[in-house]
Amino acid sequence: VTGVQTCALPISFFTELSGPRAMTDLTNYRNIGIFAHVDAGKTTTTERILKLTGKIHKIGEVHDGAATTDFMEQEQERGITIQSAATTAFWRDHRLNIIDTPGHVDFTIEVYRSLKVLDGGVGVFCGSGGVEPQSETNWRYANESEVARIIFVNKLDRLGADFYRVVDQVKNVLAANPLVMTLPIGEEDDFKGVVDVLTQQAYIWDDSGDPTQFEVTDIPADLVDKAAEYRENLIEMVVEQDEDLMMAYLEEGTEPTIDELKHCVRKGTIALDFFPTFCGSAFKNKGIQLVLDAVVDYLPNPTEVDPQPEVDMEGNETGKFADVDENGPLRALAFKIMDDRFGALTFTRIYSGSLKKGDSVLNTYTGKTERIGRIVEMHADERIERDSAQAGDIIALIGMKNTQTGHTLSDPKDVATLEPMVFPDPVIYIAISPKDKGGSEKMGVALSKMIQEDPSFRVETDQESGETIMRGMGELHLDIKVDILRRTHGVEVEVGKPLVAYRESITQTIEDSYTHKKQTGGSGQFAKIDYIVEPAGTGEGYIFESKVTGGNVPREFWPAVEKGFKISLEEGPLAGYPCLDVKLTLLDGAFHAVDSSAIAYELASRAAYRQTMPKAGPQIMEPVMKVDVFTPDDHVGDVIGDLNRRRGMIQGQEGGATGTRIKAEAPLSEMFGYIGDLRTMTSGRGQFSMEFSHYNPAPRNVADEIVKEAHDRKAAAKA
Ligand code: GDP
Repeated sequence: VTGVQTCALPISFFTELSGPRAMTDLTNYRNIGIFAHVDAGKTTTTERILKLTGKIHKIGEVHDGAATTDFMEQEQERGITIQSAATTAFWRDHRLNIIDTPGHVDFTIEVYRSLKVLDGGVGVFCGSGGVEPQSETNWRYANESEVARIIFVNKLDRLGADFYRVVDQVKNVLAANPLVMTLPIGEEDDFKGVVDVLTQQAYIWDDSGDPTQFEVTDIPADLVDKAAEYRENLIEMVVEQDEDLMMAYLEEGTEPTIDELKHCVRKGTIALDFFPTFCGSAFKNKGIQLVLDAVVDYLPNPTEVDPQPEVDMEGNETGKFADVDENGPLRALAFKIMDDRFGALTFTRIYSGSLKKGDSVLNTYTGKTERIGRIVEMHADERIERDSAQAGDIIALIGMKNTQTGHTLSDPKDVATLEPMVFPDPVIYIAISPKDKGGSEKMGVALSKMIQEDPSFRVETDQESGETIMRGMGELHLDIKVDILRRTHGVEVEVGKPLVAYRESITQTIEDSYTHKKQTGGSGQFAKIDYIVEPAGTGEGYIFESKVTGGNVPREFWPAVEKGFKISLEEGPLAGYPCLDVKLTLLDGAFHAVDSSAIAYELASRAAYRQTMPKAGPQIMEPVMKVDVFTPDDHVGDVIGDLNRRRGMIQGQEGGATGTRIKAEAPLSEMFGYIGDLRTMTSGRGQFSMEFSHYNPAPRNVADEIVKEAHDRKAAAKA
């Protein structure tokens, strides 16, 4: 970077680039996400990036709730970003599509979703808070999705900020390999700029807050040795990417050129061997240029990441891939549906082929074709119409009628589906009802829109009580939905208390037999089955097997036996919660040439369920959450004591510079309202993250209570 290159381009330059002229050189694309724990400064960093890239002239400070990527009122008030808005910006002739990822744990699903469509990321950490529990969760997800990242250690102007400590945490907490690219100059209030380790130059900003007001100078005397030491470390780490350079360096002491080094950094970054690590202060506009340069220099373009696998209608991989080629058949994934003030936007990533206005594309999920209306590119404060888009692009489609999150849009003449996004089952639910009598239709319309926007959100009607039930990933997730109902859709609702999605399972193996016999007028019904009901392994779901050999139950009726039991499993024998991990083995039985039918076997199987399940040691299963708490050291005892009272199992504890992290597992039912209690216990300084881990048998007294509650609810619904 030089001051001139990065700041002085006239706005018209950018407008021209982003106009109708197609940019099809995919090596100039960077589809990136910026992820961070709530409060680490993701919003501010994004703002600064957009400002620097010439797209925003006025910066909305997060304090005022006016940031541009925080579209929704709810987010602004809570100061968190829950929607993944895709924003396009330009830097050094490169197109950056920035997918805004959410930081709050209840929206981990949104992080997952955005990881799917991006090729690289910037992990933002707070220079004083360091690596927070939630950062680790998102980091792990990004590892699983093999997303290359650079790291930005932010807020170095803050009291207590310590770049080197955060670098250590990246090693110790995230078990990642940070490649230190910049060193801070000055601390806290005195933070002035950064040393570029690679070029051994200093970038020093003035205090105007203008990101373009900086000068490139020699490294301050007190940092010269340190900078040299870090440079040597850097070279040693990166030359491993290139055998020849490594030999020349180690054996002959020949130092690679800057370009060669950059090439190695790029290679290792894309391979996830290390994470180039930068520092600065987004708030004070210091250090952002180097991060943007790194995005361009080190993060992969769409052709450098593994292509998306294609699947058949059952979701099995076909062995083919959506190759990143604008001349290939169209494969695009709708990854986010959002209502903005202009209407419904379907955010879509194109993996292969191209899209033009007026094209007919096949939605492989609905099996119907849809016409592409308008194609727009979203910028922070405006949208730009496009006539076409191609592989590598992230754009929004306007006017899509039947396309929902996770659907593939395909070339109708060469059809393939992209690997679908997987969303875990929601573990928490609440009953809601409209406050006004007339509000029920309005609520229904609003909810059906909201389901489309968020696949981790479900709505159903309770069969018995007729109540509307919202299901989601956590308390806050559902809180926000209630807010959206009220503010966006003008529906005031009454909200029940949050309920846990319990399950049931069995503990014993029972061999049994059932005969279904019915004589109604003319033709009768007959089906006899001998079978074993037993617990299946954890996570195996429902397994059906037939060991019938003699033909006493003809093969054509086996599926009916399988189905009858499967349907019945929706309602467990104890409290009516769905039943997990059960195996049914059909051993033998009998049939009647005239009276046996699929229906008769299905009915026999359903009755067998009612007859045998209560005998098979049924138990209530409760969702157990993985909980990760951060607390200042002086409250560790309180926090652990409290977790124990919540039936939590402490799994580990780890001291850090700013406090202690406690890892535990605790039943969801005990964790309601935890954030409030934790804040109270820790004078507002505690933080935590939580995600679903597994189902565990509920202890006897708890299970009894759950069964009783379920029966009471049923009785109340009947009355
Ligand atoms: P997000 O939750 O990760 O999006 O974080 P925000 O960007 O909303 O920032 C959280 C708070 O930290 C806001 O009050 C910001 O003004 C503040 N903040 C962000 N970056 C910096 C920084 O570099 N230095 C300081 N001192 N504060 C910052």
